[in-house]
Amino acid sequence: MSYPTQPTASHFINGQYVEDTDGAAIEVIYPATGEVIATVHSATPAIIDAALDAARAAQAAWAAMTGTERGRILRRAADMMRAANHDLSVLETYDTGKPYQETSVVDATSGADALEYFGGMAATLTGEHIPLGEDWVYTRREPLGVCVGIGAWNYPTQIACWKGAPALACGNAMVFKPSETTPLCALKVAEILHAAGLPKGLYNVIQGMGDVGAALVADARVDKVSLTGSVPTGRKVYAAAAEGIKHVTMELGGKSPLIIFDDADLENAVSGAILGNFYSSGQVCSNGTRVFVHKAIKHAFLKRLTERLATAVIGDPMDPQTSFGPMVSERQTSIVLDYIAKGQAEGARLVFGGARMDRAGFYVQPTVFADVHDDMIIARQEIFGPVMAVLDFDDETDVLARANDTEFGLAAGVFTCDLTRAHRIAAGFQAGTCYINTYNDAPVEAPFGGSKASGVGRENSKAAIEHYSQIKSVYVRMGDLEAPF
Ligand code: NAD
Repeated sequence: MSYPTQPTASHFINGQYVEDTDGAAIEVIYPATGEVIATVHSATPAIIDAALDAARAAQAAWAAMTGTERGRILRRAADMMRAANHDLSVLETYDTGKPYQETSVVDATSGADALEYFGGMAATLTGEHIPLGEDWVYTRREPLGVCVGIGAWNYPTQIACWKGAPALACGNAMVFKPSETTPLCALKVAEILHAAGLPKGLYNVIQGMGDVGAALVADARVDKVSLTGSVPTGRKVYAAAAEGIKHVTMELGGKSPLIIFDDADLENAVSGAILGNFYSSGQVCSNGTRVFVHKAIKHAFLKRLTERLATAVIGDPMDPQTSFGPMVSERQTSIVLDYIAKGQAEGARLVFGGARMDRAGFYVQPTVFADVHDDMIIARQEIFGPVMAVLDFDDETDVLARANDTEFGLAAGVFTCDLTRAHRIAAGFQAGTCYINTYNDAPVEAPFGGSKASGVGRENSKAAIEHYSQIKSVYVRMGDLEAPF
């Protein structure tokens, strides 16, 4: 199998591709067929050292450039990513299995948005002047130093950019470790950044499993860690970062609620439930997988939902008509099938799908359970696959309490035509990212991130700057200084 933009080696360090075949081989599998399409090698200690040393060496000169100069490079990279969108989207589809119909409008494009947005912001990052009578304090917004980014497998290009763009805009260097399941796309991000003029050493990509991530987090050369991953991994990375008192951003998992009131526009609500459960075959952290539907419209909702799910085009992800693709891996497929079996064993009513598809690759049907209760496993644990749990409700106060009754707090959504109720519910949600009459939009202008166990810190927007820079205050005395002795 060939694809147009194959990276030429496993790692990208100090401005160039680097190989070290002493590292354990990691096979890259195309989820639509199960074929091995590439092999990369896990970073050896020498590769980890080389990446961190390169980042350390390059960072100070980068921070000394003006924001305008840094931003110009990021914006040039954004333009180059957009120009290469087709090839990057094909690569993203091979890496993840997500349909080209999605990757061509979501992945390299949202990565480019982040590069453009933070590139534009780089020149605006300033401190402030605080007058104190004759004396004064001024603040400097300074970079953190070397930032480590660790990615999940569902949005490899986007995650590489969402972490890299604000880090670089603020004057940091980055070492990025993609998920071992989808190692290819971040290498192309590094290649494009350097082709756009990024000085060598500032954005390095190294491969590996959790042990490589853990080695990066523990290293004294690292000042900040930004993880996108599951809550159990987040706990480990947060604890390891605490050992070195390092800055962290944690973008973790969720089991988000989506509440649909009986006055909602039914077609829009069904669209929201589809987008919030089946896009990327359900492998989206912020998905609204607990769908609370008012009893008065339950029947109508399930009827329209199942009618529309029957029109999903499931098949070859490279076919632009395909709207639903495979799971990322055999492992994730069996995790999802296991949850489906648990749902059936617990007495949830299967109203759509529920099985692996009889074809090559890792295809699981879009699956809907109705009559789900709050204490069922499928309503409590993150499945990270195309499995929607529909729960009934008839009281606003009660449904909000049930929606919030979870350790997670990543996202939440409400569909209603009652203006005040919409805002009342949004205010009551214990979640970092909320939606009214829509679901899963993630524009770069808006903060994105979780509360409770779903995370710490925010990506995107001006808020991300706080997580990739620190404030230094400088007290300036204008007169003589008195001392007690
Ligand atoms: P994961 O937690 O298994 O792995 C995430 C990354 O952490 C991988 O690169 C992995 O190699 C690395 N890792 C594992 N153990 C480590 C350790 N001890 N130290 C350092 N790094 C380590 O997650 P996944 O299965 O790749 O992705 C799915 C999860 O990611 C889901 O829970 C999903 O909700 C979450 N996610 C969250 C967001 C968000 O923005 N909040 C976005 C996408 C995915």
